Amino acid sequence: MESILRKRHFQSNKENQKRSWLRLLKFLIPFLILSGSVFLRAQEEAKGAFIVTVTGKIGLENLGNILPHEHVTTDFLGAEIAPQPRYSKDNAITTILPHLKNLKEKGYGLFFECTPNYIGRDVELLKALSELSGLKIVTNTGYYAAVNKKFLPKHAYTESSETLAQLWEKEWQEGIGDTGIRPGFIKLGVGKGPLDAIEEKLLNAALVLHKKSGLQMAMHTGDGEAALSEYQIITKAGVDGKNMIWVHAQNGKDKERIALAKKGVWISLDGVSSEKMDSYVTMIRILKENQLLSRLLISHDNGWGVEDEKGTISLVPFDKGKNVPYQTIHEVLLPRLQKMGFTKAEIDLITIENPIKAYSLKP
Ligand SMILES: [Zn+2]
Repeated sequence: MESILRKRHFQSNKENQKRSWLRLLKFLIPFLILSGSVFLRAQEEAKGAFIVTVTGKIGLENLGNILPHEHVTTDFLGAEIAPQPRYSKDNAITTILPHLKNLKEKGYGLFFECTPNYIGRDVELLKALSELSGLKIVTNTGYYAAVNKKFLPKHAYTESSETLAQLWEKEWQEGIGDTGIRPGFIKLGVGKGPLDAIEEKLLNAALVLHKKSGLQMAMHTGDGEAALSEYQIITKAGVDGKNMIWVHAQNGKDKERIALAKKGVWISLDGVSSEKMDSYVTMIRILKENQLLSRLLISHDNGWGVEDEKGTISLVPFDKGKNVPYQTIHEVLLPRLQKMGFTKAEIDLITIENPIKAYSLKP
């Protein structure tokens, strides 16, 4: 670059000089846009930004590739029915550890585990798996009101948003139960259509904790109408759209995703699988055409469900093993995006820079 600039200096013709500068600028603009996020990240690092994992606080440097929405174990039995977990920790480790070690070998360093409390969140298992695999794992606080409130504890109906926020804040400040393990984001779940009174109360509780802690709000959302309703509630509370992750944005329409992404909302396309690859590729291409790759997150939303077959508890992959858990993005999706002309900088933006920007906390 310096030698090009020096050559330009010796040209006497001013018009030529101007044209050369324009050419240089034209060459530089795409580079500057894509590397802008890297510069921003460097600034964040300098300011001491961090992520809270199940094994403690970490900085933002050398995190490797990131999966922003996955699960380890999820128990669909329903809130407060059986003491959790129902499986043996050793069996869970034997089943899941090879998959996390594999991720580490493929260059992944960080994994956001999005199973909320009362639907199988098991932070001690996450900590053991993280220590054994070397993969950093982040857990969450918050409640899940989707699926007809099946996973909501009774007190979620009677307590105020302030009291719920206090319960979640205790987890953030002191750790979950007596484990000392702290959550690194807030996870909620809502159904379709505008939020109902309970869903709105949970979101208001999340907003109270978000304002105190800066914790990102990741929301499992039934459809585009529900996402718009969430956005309206958070902006009414004076909180910017960039503090919201529209989890399962694949359930909305392109028009809805584009409108909210333009407002700064993170668009999380979860559930990437070989069978539905074409639809994910199309959604991503349309975001790119609208210059919105900087709002995109992608994940498999894989994990294991707890199943009870005549008293024998087992862990079964979510899609019954049709896809090897956590593999499809780097094995199928990313090579396909590269073939379509996505640059390395664009891939890094989606798989590294965006998740960091979405989830990191300021001191
Ligand atoms: Zn999920």
